Amino acid sequence: MSSTSPLPLTDRFGRVHSDLRVSLTDRCNLRCTYCMPEEGLSWLAKPELLSDDEVLRLVDVATRRLGIRTVRLTGGEPLLRRGLPDLVARISALPYAPELSITTNGVGLARTAVALREAGLRRVNVSLDTLRPERYAEITRRDRLSDVLLGLAAAQAAGLAPVKVNAVPVRGVNEDEIADLAAFALEHGYRMRFIESMPLDAQGAWERDRMITADEILERLRERFTLEPVARTGSAPAEEWRVDGTDATIGVIASVTRPFCGGCDRVRLTADGQLRNCLFASEESDLRALLRGGADDAAVEAAWRVSVAGKGPGHAINSAEFRQPVRPMSAIGG
Ligand code: SAM
Ligand code: SF4
Repeated sequence: MSSTSPLPLTDRFGRVHSDLRVSLTDRCNLRCTYCMPEEGLSWLAKPELLSDDEVLRLVDVATRRLGIRTVRLTGGEPLLRRGLPDLVARISALPYAPELSITTNGVGLARTAVALREAGLRRVNVSLDTLRPERYAEITRRDRLSDVLLGLAAAQAAGLAPVKVNAVPVRGVNEDEIADLAAFALEHGYRMRFIESMPLDAQGAWERDRMITADEILERLRERFTLEPVARTGSAPAEEWRVDGTDATIGVIASVTRPFCGGCDRVRLTADGQLRNCLFASEESDLRALLRGGADDAAVEAAWRVSVAGKGPGHAINSAEFRQPVRPMSAIGG
């Protein structure tokens, strides 16, 4: 291991990028209504996906040469990736091993949590939008709530702490459960986070009026809890609130109404090896083509730096010119 630090991965606005999201698949075992249509979404073919060796090579370049420190595995549903614990173990054994976490729907977590923890995974975010089985089946179009609840408990027992629970409230669907979800998380020692819904669904059906804003989320929480703001640190997107004078916190991610693009430190790699400098980017850099064309690490590093240098100031969801990116969240890696 060299003792020199890599040059930071900086854009023209001076933002330093140290967080990488890696999508491991665009497929999913759920069909959340705000994310995917019930049917008709076509999947990447296997040869298009990065292999484990390719993922490892890119994470190695990112951590050794570009200063990436944290890596989050996502998808689609990342637990559907075959041999995931092996890949986690290989990433954890890299010379500049990043802090490794995962975002999952939790359906498969009960049977994988221990293996993932032993392989080096540090933390987990589990998406859960309701505690009511019938509603869960309506939102995700699958009857899997009990698996998710077991998955959450298994993650906590395996030491993947703090277990975070992510919910996307949607008007007329689950906004009446905001305080219940928070109470559930507090009771179990999970960290609750609410996320404003974004125009990133595969079917292009997002409607601003159905988004529950951060202000509304906080209003609903204040009906049941006393909230005190926690001073924001670094580039974390969540505004954190301390609950009822305890150490427990609830996070609110106001991507639409209070964008945090000015502090963004993220880059994203899609499951087919395209580098995106923003969730809402309209262009991608084809790192897979470089890898498969025999490029050396310096060439991969250079392409990565060029992509980040060209990053825009922020998303334009709130402007009339906004165009939804062609790739939906499930194919970018949320
Ligand atoms: N399948 C995994 C899961 O659900 O956690 C990982 C991928 S999913 C795309 C990542 C996160 O994106 C989830 O927390 C999900 O709720 C969120 N998400 C999906 N579509 C969204 C949308 N249109 N707006 C905001 N968040 C969304
Ligand atoms: Fe699947 Fe996650 Fe999208 Fe739900 S939010 S359909 S679990 S990728």
